[in-house]
Amino acid sequence: MKKCLLIPISLSALMIFSVCCAKNPTQEEKPWEWSLEQVQSEVNRVRAGKDLTPESWPGGTRVAIALSFDFDAETNALRDLNLSPGTFSQGEYAARVAIPRILALLDKYDIPASFFVPAVSALLHKEEIQAIVSKNRHEIGLHGWIHERNSLLSEHEESDLMYKSFDTLKELTGKAPVGIRTPSWDFSQHTLAIIKEMGLLYDSSLMADDRPYEILEDGKSTGVVELPVEWLLDDYPYFGFSRYSSVRPHIKPMDVFAVWAAEFEKAYDEGTLFVLTMHPKYIGHRSRMSMLETLIQYMQTHDQVWFATHEEIARYVKEGDGTIE
Ligand SMILES: [Zn+2]
Repeated sequence: MKKCLLIPISLSALMIFSVCCAKNPTQEEKPWEWSLEQVQSEVNRVRAGKDLTPESWPGGTRVAIALSFDFDAETNALRDLNLSPGTFSQGEYAARVAIPRILALLDKYDIPASFFVPAVSALLHKEEIQAIVSKNRHEIGLHGWIHERNSLLSEHEESDLMYKSFDTLKELTGKAPVGIRTPSWDFSQHTLAIIKEMGLLYDSSLMADDRPYEILEDGKSTGVVELPVEWLLDDYPYFGFSRYSSVRPHIKPMDVFAVWAAEFEKAYDEGTLFVLTMHPKYIGHRSRMSMLETLIQYMQTHDQVWFATHEEIARYVKEGDGTIE
């Protein structure tokens, strides 16, 4: 896959730009000369297969609600070699303040959630992992080793880190993870092959639908369930803030509520799936947790809603469907 090099082009202006080298320079340089077959072979490598929305959800419920928290803590900064204690402290907040706050909220409404955790984050915050596990209703899923960017790794490196992460989470939680959310949703050209080799039940990193679907590889069935994500259903674009790299305006929490509630309404009408991706370091602040509580209350005012982990939903759509292995 592509390796990106940072090349200084002006000493005075400190300008840099990225040059991506392809595995096949001819294809990389002139995709406009590709045949339709070449184009199709690239885009069909990983595609959405059949819609796995069941006739009804368990107990006759009308919508499946999958709340997820990506507990990255300090790993994004570590990956980028941003070793500032100031940046680390934002990750520390996730463990020290946000995780207890999130667990208390989930307790209050007696609902489950999935936590996707880079193995290094789990190793740095074993007590918080144990706190999540001790509730006996939450799921802990794979989220890389140190929030690495899969597309910058060789297949061998990506595979090694996934197996190492799997072993680490299994040892810390006492249960083998069954699903993955790739770090930064960076699903490389090798990720699906590794998921299949590991026998994982599901992925939650792709965006080809709002509904659960089966992932196809080169047009063929894989048996891997996708529980799709979307940036508008992620807290980071609304609440993330990077002082030096770009403008990231803070948004009123209730403006985000309006977007998420409207998304939920439509999922409820369609009888499908509502997946929300959150990060303790962003959602875990007071005003935003109040908004999340309001959203949970709002969803609970609807009849027949099913709050479940990603694992529970993936098992239900796979086993209920019966047409994928
Ligand atoms: Zn993450």
